[in-house]
Amino acid sequence: MEPVLHVADVQKNFAGLKALADIDLKIAPGKTHAIIGPNGAGKSTLLNVCVGRLSPDEGAVMFNGRVITGLKPHQINQLGVARVFQTPEIFPDLTLLQNVMAPAYAKRDGPIRLNMLRGLDHDRDIRAEAEGILADLGLAEHRHEEAGWLSRGDKRRLELAMCLVQHPKLLLLDEPTAGMSRLDTNRTIELLKKIKERGMTKVIIEHDMHVVFSLADTVTVLAGGRIIAEGTPEEVRRDPRVQDAYLGGAH
Ligand code: ADP
Ligand code: MG
Repeated sequence: MEPVLHVADVQKNFAGLKALADIDLKIAPGKTHAIIGPNGAGKSTLLNVCVGRLSPDEGAVMFNGRVITGLKPHQINQLGVARVFQTPEIFPDLTLLQNVMAPAYAKRDGPIRLNMLRGLDHDRDIRAEAEGILADLGLAEHRHEEAGWLSRGDKRRLELAMCLVQHPKLLLLDEPTAGMSRLDTNRTIELLKKIKERGMTKVIIEHDMHVVFSLADTVTVLAGGRIIAEGTPEEVRRDPRVQDAYLGGAH
C-alpha cells in the first residue's frame, strides 16, 4: 500500500551540524508510527521538515504521493496534515471552546476573524463537535475559561483537540504527553487509541516508553540525525543498538 507520508532521502544541516542525514521513512495508512531517540536526535527537526516549517537541504517529503516540500505550513495543513508541536500554540485570550472551534471555522471558511468566535451565534454542528472533543479529553468543565490559564499539560491536550476538530488525514504529534501527569497521560493515550480506531494515521514523537509501547505499531529510532533501527515496539526494544543509543541509561 502506498505510504501516507514518505520522507525520501532527507538531509538537513544547521551550520555544519548534521541534524538529519539520509532519512528515508515511510508511514503506512491507518498506523501509529512512533519516532523515538535521545535529545538532539533530530526528531523535532524531522517533524518540522514534514509540516513545511523547515525546508530540507536535500530530499523531499511526499504526502499521499504528492511532493509537499516547498509548500507553506498552512498549505500542507489544508491538505490534511495537522500537528501538535512541542510548545503549545493556542489562543490564550479565547476560551477553550473558542480555541477548538477556531480551526473548524478556518477549515470551512478560510482564515478566521477572531471576533467571529466571540459571537454567540455559533454553527451548531461545529459547537457540538468541539464540546464533544473537549469532553473526550476531560476538559469539558473548563470550556468557558480562558485558555491562557491552563496548565502546560492541559494546553497540550487543548492543542490536540484543535487538531482533531480538523479531521486530519495525518496527525503529527511532538511529545504529546510532555509535562502531563500520569492521569492525563493515560487519558491522552486512551484518546489516541480511539482515534486509531477511526483510521487516522499518526506519527508520534515520544520519549515516554509507556506511551510508545501502548500505542505504536511501528517504531523508528533516531540517533545523531540517522535512523538506527526500525520495527515493532518489541523488536526495537530488543535491538542492542537501540539499547546502547537510547535505552542504555534508563533500563
Ligand atoms: P530532538 O527533537 O530529537 O531533541 P532536534 O530536532 O530539536 O532534536 O535537534 C536536532 C539537532 O539540531 C540538535 O543538535 C539541535 O541543537 C539542532 N538544532 C535544532 N534546531 C536548530 C536550529 N533552528 N538551528 C540550529 N540548530 C538546531
Ligand atoms: Mg524535540
